[in-house]
Amino acid sequence: MTKKIFLSIFLITICALIFAVVSMLFVTGSYINKRIKEELYNEANYLGAGIESSGEGYMTRLSQSGHRVTWISGEGNVLFDSRGEDNASMSGYLEREEVKAALESEDGYGYSSRYSDTMSEKTNYCAKRLNDGSVIRVSSAHYSIWEILIDMMSSVVLISALTLIASAALAIVLSRMIVKPISLIDIDKPDVTHAYSELRPVVKKLSDQKKRIDNQIAELRLKQTEFEAITSNMSEGMITVDYMANVLTCNQSAKRILGCGDKTPSNALSLTTGIEFRQSMMTALSGKKAQSQLKTGGFCYSIIASPVIEDGNVNGAVIVLLDETEKESREALRREFTSNVSHELKTPLTSISGFAELIRDGLVNDGQRAHFADNICKESARMLSLIDDIIKLSRLDGKEIPYDKTRIDLYECASQVKERLEGIAAKRSITLSLTGSSAYIEGNANIVEDMIYNLCDNAIKYNNDRGSVIVDVGEHKGRSYFSVSDNGIGIPPSELSRIYERFYRVDKSHSKEIGGTGLGLSIVKHAAIYHNAEIDTQSTPGKGTKITVTF
Ligand code: ADP
Repeated sequence: MTKKIFLSIFLITICALIFAVVSMLFVTGSYINKRIKEELYNEANYLGAGIESSGEGYMTRLSQSGHRVTWISGEGNVLFDSRGEDNASMSGYLEREEVKAALESEDGYGYSSRYSDTMSEKTNYCAKRLNDGSVIRVSSAHYSIWEILIDMMSSVVLISALTLIASAALAIVLSRMIVKPISLIDIDKPDVTHAYSELRPVVKKLSDQKKRIDNQIAELRLKQTEFEAITSNMSEGMITVDYMANVLTCNQSAKRILGCGDKTPSNALSLTTGIEFRQSMMTALSGKKAQSQLKTGGFCYSIIASPVIEDGNVNGAVIVLLDETEKESREALRREFTSNVSHELKTPLTSISGFAELIRDGLVNDGQRAHFADNICKESARMLSLIDDIIKLSRLDGKEIPYDKTRIDLYECASQVKERLEGIAAKRSITLSLTGSSAYIEGNANIVEDMIYNLCDNAIKYNNDRGSVIVDVGEHKGRSYFSVSDNGIGIPPSELSRIYERFYRVDKSHSKEIGGTGLGLSIVKHAAIYHNAEIDTQSTPGKGTKITVTF
């Protein structure tokens, strides 16, 4: 703006200067002409009067200096010439414009001016008709206006240059003075702006618009902060990109999952080298939803990329990374469980069907029949106990457990179990004893009895003949507990972490031989979870095992 104002002022000054110089020249020129004309008229009149009163002798007394004077007779003969030129060299006077005009005009005057061949000199002529019909002509030569201009050129150029420098300086000062109040306008305080009252409505409008924009920006910032607060606390990764795949937002989880550190690259293609992520994003940016899987660092993520479409155009994409590791491992567990169940059921069924076929085909004699029937019974019982355990486990594992919790006495539950198992223990001369006292919990008696039963059953199964099993019930530090300890074969420390897995057995063949399903401790674990109880397992191979459940 300053530059524009400066140029405008400077240009105006140049134009004004040129106009002033040219007009001064013309005014001066016409003034000089006017004065000369007046002078010549006066002189012609004066000379005319002199000749008419004093005759030819008056002319001879005239000074040779000054204007040139020529006296011409009515016939065109030169009667007198102050330059002394004779008639022969000065022919054709009657044809001269001023002489002709003086002879023909009513007032008897004629005036003309002529330039020299080089235009450097201009001669003005004034002629007056005398009473005797002769004409007196006075002429004056002087420099033409162009000659004056050329003469004055150096001074004109100098003055013009000085004027231009002065005007340039003035233009700079003026343009700054004009612009300064505008640059000092504060649109935050439109009422305090004193510069240029004409600008006040514009400043007011700008100020209103700025306030609106400021409010909108504040609102957007708030929304962005809210969005960042929500997404930063999400365990899922979330990335938003524009249509050029430039990252708009990328939460902490996404950075962690994609392993790109704390710094977010500007383009999403640089977030990871994983082909699955890139492909899903590019598909979303082409307008189609995409889903794929990303396996990294032992975790499994599902990539869901959705296009953001507005007015039919893809403006960007939202990419969500869901941790599906648990789901995947659950799936794997479910597959393993199904295959284990099938396998566990198939074994007794194969035996049963084999024994039945032998009996059907008459290959079993009377003496062996009872033995085969006994095997069928044992395998069926194993199958039933397995199915029973699976049902219990699936109930405990399910989201809705169809059991009620009431106030129950752990000691009571333990004595019920003792009664049920005493016969089995006695067969192997194992002593099963119950110690402690009543301890109450909010729970389900059937489930608690199953827990104690499974632990005591194991303590008997994995015990030596004439061994002992002690069930202890009581309270410790305000918490009810029961423990089952035996002096049996014990569990190697390396296996302790796995015995609660479904179908896991330390010694598979031994466990099957003694009728284990591999689900007993799994049921104990899920029953403990159901009661918010903790399990503590202490075992020494060859010495025995103690499992404590604290509610
Ligand atoms: P099972 O039906 O085979 O007994 P469990 O889930 O009850 O299955 O037990 C898992 C495994 O833990 C058993 O196969 C056994 O090897 C081991 N185990 C459990 N209790 C004891 C114990 N008291 N003493 C020694 N080993 C045990």
